Amino acid sequence: MDYMLDTINLDLEHVKQGGRPGATIIVHQETVVATGVNEIVQSKDPTAHGTIIALRKASYVLKSENLNGCIVYTTLEPCAMCLGALYWAEVDIFPTVLVVYQREEIGRLEGKEEVGE
Ligand SMILES: [Zn+2]
Repeated sequence: MDYMLDTINLDLEHVKQGGRPGATIIVHQETVVATGVNEIVQSKDPTAHGTIIALRKASYVLKSENLNGCIVYTTLEPCAMCLGALYWAEVDIFPTVLVVYQREEIGRLEGKEEVGE
């Protein structure tokens, strides 16, 4: 299973529905235990990054604050907050692919000609 591709598709679908970019999938022992997308706007919560949301879900599912052994797939380079959370969760590996959304692409996904400043 290509978890990175799944993460990219999760992100693209979320952006297509109006969300901001940033998706994360957490895998433990070849099983997806959590997903998260950027919900800053929807939740009015500046900490609602996809990685933070997925870490919270994974901790709940695995009943542990220590996520050692998990692999965290993200579409954006973790920010300082998410990187800190990954550190404190003791995640070993977090492959990241930087998905660059062109303004025209976001506009197309939103059904607009182009996105304003
Ligand atoms: Zn972040």
